[in-house]
Amino acid sequence: MACLFCKIVAREVPAQIVHENDHVLAFKDIHPAAPTHALVIPKRHIAGIRDATPEDAAMLGELMLAGRHVAEALGVGESGYRLVVNQGGDAGQSVFHMHLHVLGGRPLAWPPG
Ligand code: 5GP
Ligand code: ZN
Repeated sequence: MACLFCKIVAREVPAQIVHENDHVLAFKDIHPAAPTHALVIPKRHIAGIRDATPEDAAMLGELMLAGRHVAEALGVGESGYRLVVNQGGDAGQSVFHMHLHVLGGRPLAWPPG
């Protein structure tokens, strides 16, 4: 198994885990782009949103709800935050195990760069 995030799910690579349930895992980003920066991933490997099928609808919903939960747990629920999925080259996706970024703790510019 070569996937970095699958290794985090398997506890073969350490991570600062902030939330977990049967289907998703959330942990702090190793190179935070904001004071609060966590990643929420499905435990089952899927490379990106482009590979999702209608059967993944429940998992995708769980990612969003877990993103909200993590934002609240990390203290940015009131101040605001952004939930982001990067897909492919132009979006700068660098890890090909789908993940939802939870970003907050400072004003976030719009549109993004
Ligand atoms: P992407 O650019 O694919 O949307 O996001 C990948 C994210 O994974 C980046 O923000 C990067 O900092 C983070 N990341 C890469 N390797 C690791 C790691 O080993 N541990 C953790 N916690 N985050 C990582
Ligand atoms: Zn994976």
